Amino acid sequence: MPDNCIFCKIIKGEIPAAKLFEDDELLAFQDINPAAPLHFLVIPKKHISGPAAVAAEDEPLMGKMLRIGSEIAKKEGFEDFRIVFNNGAQAGQTVFHIHMHILGGRDLNWPPG
Ligand code: AMP
Ligand code: ZN
Repeated sequence: MPDNCIFCKIIKGEIPAAKLFEDDELLAFQDINPAAPLHFLVIPKKHISGPAAVAAEDEPLMGKMLRIGSEIAKKEGFEDFRIVFNNGAQAGQTVFHIHMHILGGRDLNWPPG
């Protein structure tokens, strides 16, 4: 894992985060700059640089991210939410450790306003 990866540092406990869920494979925490009343991130503990770097062996992990993220949203009181993955700087990716955004609590009609 790259030394300068901010999400690997959160996983290692070197940077604090408001954690919502953690097990041996995944971590979920509040986004530090929320774009909606509900906005948290789900990341794998395995460093994967982004959606385009997902390997066949990672497919179960990606499904688990969807399941756990949805369960957290429901526990937080949200039945309706949007899930976003950004791939590449031009698409808005700023942290190159794959992360699933879950957003809810405001008008989330697509495309975003
Ligand atoms: P993206 O633009 O898809 O790469 O999303 C990166 C997200 O990570 C942004 O929504 C940031 O607000 C969030 N973020 C960056 N640093 C932290 C941090 N230390 N703790 C929590 N969220 C962070
Ligand atoms: Zn990382």
